[in-house]
Amino acid sequence: MHHTQERDQIDLAKQVWLRISVFIGGLFGIVIHVYCPISDMQPYKGDLAMTSILPEPFGTDPLTNQRVVVKDSTATLKDYPYQYSAGAESLAVEEMRVTALGTGYPARRGQACAGFLCELGNGEVFIFDAGTGTNGAFNVMGVPYGRANKFFISHYHIDHIGDLPAYYDFGQSNGRLEPMNIYGPAGDQAAYGIDALVENLYKLAAWHDKTKKGNLDPRGFDMVPHQFVPDLAQVVYEANDVVVTAFPVPHGMYGAVGYRLDYAGMSMVYAGDCEPSTLTVDNSQNVDLIIHETFNPPQTYVDKMGWTEQMAKIVAWTKHTSPEAAAKVYARTNPGLAMSFHGTIAPGTPQPILDGIRTGYDGPVVVAQDFTVINITPEQIVTRMVDVVPWAFIVSDPEYIAAKGGANQDPSQQPGTLPQWLEDTVIPVPEIEAFKKQLFEEGMR
Ligand SMILES: [Zn+2]
Ligand SMILES: [Zn+2]
Repeated sequence: MHHTQERDQIDLAKQVWLRISVFIGGLFGIVIHVYCPISDMQPYKGDLAMTSILPEPFGTDPLTNQRVVVKDSTATLKDYPYQYSAGAESLAVEEMRVTALGTGYPARRGQACAGFLCELGNGEVFIFDAGTGTNGAFNVMGVPYGRANKFFISHYHIDHIGDLPAYYDFGQSNGRLEPMNIYGPAGDQAAYGIDALVENLYKLAAWHDKTKKGNLDPRGFDMVPHQFVPDLAQVVYEANDVVVTAFPVPHGMYGAVGYRLDYAGMSMVYAGDCEPSTLTVDNSQNVDLIIHETFNPPQTYVDKMGWTEQMAKIVAWTKHTSPEAAAKVYARTNPGLAMSFHGTIAPGTPQPILDGIRTGYDGPVVVAQDFTVINITPEQIVTRMVDVVPWAFIVSDPEYIAAKGGANQDPSQQPGTLPQWLEDTVIPVPEIEAFKKQLFEEGMR
């Protein structure tokens, strides 16, 4: 029970669950017990008690046993709205906001692959992994593309990089006027590192780029790889009071890492995909937030996906981290909050993950579902859900664009054109034909 001693966050007098007994008299003579969270009725900061039963996923409640972790019991705690609305809350200078853009495998409608957005009070934005489906989540978060230019890739399984082309494309056409900086480990062969991966992304984008170059500001087409040799923990980024440290982790073969971000006395670790490792433990001591993979118990894959028990155990126990193994990492790390991701989230699946973790760890845990959002300050760690607006438009950032001298086409670059026989098949509309003629005369077509 080291957490109750060290963090002073559990007030057993404050029960989360309010039990209301409603007696339906007469007709059937039965008693119905209605359970509802007190937190719906109280300020968010009042919800300090630890629970053992998680809510069902895909609702308005995060899958956590403790929504508010108090780091400083003498401080006045900040109230947060019950859910986070993109763009509606400014960060204090000493504040971090970490949002799960994707938490699972494979990508499903309700759960993208791995990706985490980290916004800092100094205005900087960091993206850890660009898993398949995460760009769609990023696009509802109200973060302009110009600010999302630092990517840290843990390893090159497709589920962790699948949306790099999407960030590349949508940034080009939505005001990113500086390079996408992509940090990643080298492998034991040149083909396995981030340098090669970025080169291959350019090859993938050859046709795409040819149609657009000349029509868009050329700065949006820049990707810059930052490759490092993952033999030991090392600083890979340092600027503006932010330090990002990469450390090797065991995941299949050489060339997978986790990252630790330190900012203004606050910290988070994103361990990527890995078996439980002393390296992760060593580099995650006392962080505010550790994001660590945790697979579902093997029986979930047997029951829900028809896997054999042996296959389920090979995947969930020998390639990845089981809930019981994650507990060992968390217990040795002593984080403010532990976030388990990479499991399949569906009704009924989060609770067995928490129960497994509970066999060896008694601190605050959140089972990650997409759009779980965590605010970290010197005083507290608050876990909520994003109020997702699926039709949100991508935000523009006129100030940023003006500061970069505007978004300008490069007249020296010519986009690809249609052969005349294909152009001739286009059904003419007079107003549009006149506009095309004007573009042609200006050398833009
Ligand atoms: Zn992996
Ligand atoms: Zn993965």
